[in-house]
Amino acid sequence: MGAGSSGAALAARLSEDPNRSVLLLEAGPDYPAVDQSPGDLLRTWISAGPHDWGLVARVSANREIAYPRGKVTGGSSAVNGHIALRGTPEDFDEWAAWGNYEWSFAKVLPFYRKLENDRDFQGDFHNANGPIWIERPRADDWQPINRAFHDACRELGYADVADHNDPRSTGVGPWPRNRRDGIRISTAIGYLNPARHRVNLTIRPFCNTHRVIVEGGRAAGVEVECGGVVQTLRARRVTLSAGAINSPAILMRSGIGPRDDLATLGIKSVLDLPGVGRNLIDHVLVPVVANPTAGVPHDPQVTNPIGIRYTASGSNEFNDMQMYVFTYFDKSLWVGSELDMPVPSVAVTPGLQRPRARGRVSLRSADPNVPAIIDLNYFDDPEDLRRMVEGVRIAWRLMNSARFAPYIKDFVNITPEIVASDSATADFVRNNCGTIYHPTTTAKMGPKSDPAAVVDQHFRVHGIDGLRVVDASVMPNIVRANTNLTCIMLGERAADWMRADSQ
Ligand SMILES: Cc1cc2nc3c(=O)[nH]c(=O)nc-3n(C[C@H](O)[C@H](O)[C@H](O)COP(=O)(O)OP(=O)(O)OC[C@H]3O[C@@H](n4cnc5c(N)ncnc54)[C@H](O)[C@@H]3O)c2cc1C
Repeated sequence: MGAGSSGAALAARLSEDPNRSVLLLEAGPDYPAVDQSPGDLLRTWISAGPHDWGLVARVSANREIAYPRGKVTGGSSAVNGHIALRGTPEDFDEWAAWGNYEWSFAKVLPFYRKLENDRDFQGDFHNANGPIWIERPRADDWQPINRAFHDACRELGYADVADHNDPRSTGVGPWPRNRRDGIRISTAIGYLNPARHRVNLTIRPFCNTHRVIVEGGRAAGVEVECGGVVQTLRARRVTLSAGAINSPAILMRSGIGPRDDLATLGIKSVLDLPGVGRNLIDHVLVPVVANPTAGVPHDPQVTNPIGIRYTASGSNEFNDMQMYVFTYFDKSLWVGSELDMPVPSVAVTPGLQRPRARGRVSLRSADPNVPAIIDLNYFDDPEDLRRMVEGVRIAWRLMNSARFAPYIKDFVNITPEIVASDSATADFVRNNCGTIYHPTTTAKMGPKSDPAAVVDQHFRVHGIDGLRVVDASVMPNIVRANTNLTCIMLGERAADWMRADSQ
């Protein structure tokens, strides 16, 4: 259920076994070939328009932002910024230390390798045979501002990185991207299209799953709305891959979640699982926006080719920060921004990769057509704000460096007075921050002894047989990387286990 990053990978891999019958239900439309896909799914950097759920999230008591999620086969992988980064060994060794011993980096690396076809690197960390094409923008294709950013970073002491996916890398270099010949390689393109001929794989678009049907402690099927008609489908196994917002919402509508909260909405409890919807984590960024000098070339097709992975000062968490440089920054890249920006602007954006704050997804109503409440709760921990304030000052230094300054006419949303003041910079971060679009951990994996765990380390919902969650929801902590590759890797791992398991 859900044909996104995890769900499409899972369905394609499971249906490699001709003895299995796989039904893939997707709420959005399906485009069976690249040449039948609309342009917003192919050559854009981010597309949150026609194939979006239209969700809204609460940043603080008085601020809400648009919260894009892909609604189409390929899911968010079909609309995303296609930075193709892996989590680090530290991320997975933490997952393993929390009782998920199958998730050490050594155990996940084969699945990160399995999913990729890396044009640029081979060897122990890479592979050239997987469904997702990955390449790094060549230095010849960078824009002058990217070159200036790179040189300014080097002068500030950041190392030159050739491969950001090498687990030892830290510093500045080209982002690996799942983009080929200018086209975003979603999981619909990489996984589903080559599998469409299989008679044991049925892909049903425009099917909105309302809830899971549980009978005698076992998932027996789902209730879906298809063509305006609510129908019941029975199945031997049900797997939710609706993403970190909709999977917990579906669980709660099914009576699986915090009992008291469900009771207030009139939903009969099937299983009291307090962790459902809790522990929402998201990467937050803040753009420092400037007006470029006249005549600076910026090709919208090369807007964010390089960036930094770095460790904040005083932090003991390796690569806990990222920084992007957008040579062509506009509202399509910062969805829902209230800022009045000249077009095109340039922006340098620090982003937090190891947030301590935890938010929550909860139901507003038992009605499946009413979107969930998304409470991001950014900056609930002062250490998150501290690292972002420092990030803004690093961005400011880079943009005012001898290399970068000639490209800037004036700043749009920041002044020297703001940067000089701790409290003004903190306010700047709170008022200008946005999402990097990476919600996770709302149905987290963990042993039964962990009261907040929703699934075990093999994706099985604690206490309900035949029901799995396989998507960003299950990450015990967010990876310090953009989340798409990790979600695909989760789909690969789930398929590997499910093919070996008759339950
Ligand atoms: C605008 C944007 C930019 C991003 N940029 C990047 C990037 O550059 N690099 C990166 O690594 N990550 C990026 N991400 C994040 C990354 O794409 C996601 O983390 C990842 O795709 C999530 O995978 P998933 O399988 O958990 O969910 P999704 O891919 O969102 O899949 C969920 C699927 O379930 C379907 N669904 C949901 N509810 C129902 C229902 N009730 N019934 C039926 N179907 C349903 C949805 O329509 C969707 O197809 C971005 C995300 C967005 C939205």
